Amino acid sequence: MFALQGDVREHLATLTELGADAFSVRRPEELARCDALVLPGGESTTMAKLARTFELLEPLRERVASGMPTFGTCAGMILLADRILDGAVGQETIGGLDVTVRRNAFGRQVDSFESEVDVVGLDEPVHAVFIRAPWVEEVGPEVEVLAEAEGHPVAVRQGHLLATSFHPEVDGDGRIHRLFLEQIR
Ligand code: GLN
Repeated sequence: MFALQGDVREHLATLTELGADAFSVRRPEELARCDALVLPGGESTTMAKLARTFELLEPLRERVASGMPTFGTCAGMILLADRILDGAVGQETIGGLDVTVRRNAFGRQVDSFESEVDVVGLDEPVHAVFIRAPWVEEVGPEVEVLAEAEGHPVAVRQGHLLATSFHPEVDGDGRIHRLFLEQIR
């Protein structure tokens, strides 16, 4: 669990509840102990800067590129994206996910909203909480769209990478985390 910034506690609680041995990652030695990683919601520019300062950015890029299962929510989705629109000047990402995301995309109409979203692989819709959320504007050929909202992809998977624009860690419904864990196990 990337823990330099963001809603780390909510993710840890959900992962622990589902039986995962989840712990905080703030240093390269901790990252080295991970079999899989979650990137939380928060502020993607701050996360990237802190990751660089704490010498985590390059190790993160290497681990994600070499196949470590990684799940990003909201800001975490932005961190996984290969390309960002409306990013801060010089904003860095970890990358690996062949998508273009638009930051604060829904925010131009409304900052935050909640919606019932159908997700591929889940029987019932998910109650999705969007907070200054990005949407996916373009997907590469390897990317599977799992959910859409307002005509834009908001959940995507590409091999070992999973990302949502919304915050499944916030409403206490662990189904998307379970999807991620099942993919690892
Ligand atoms: N707008 C934030 C960003 O660009 C993401 C918001 C969130 O994670 N809830 O980093």
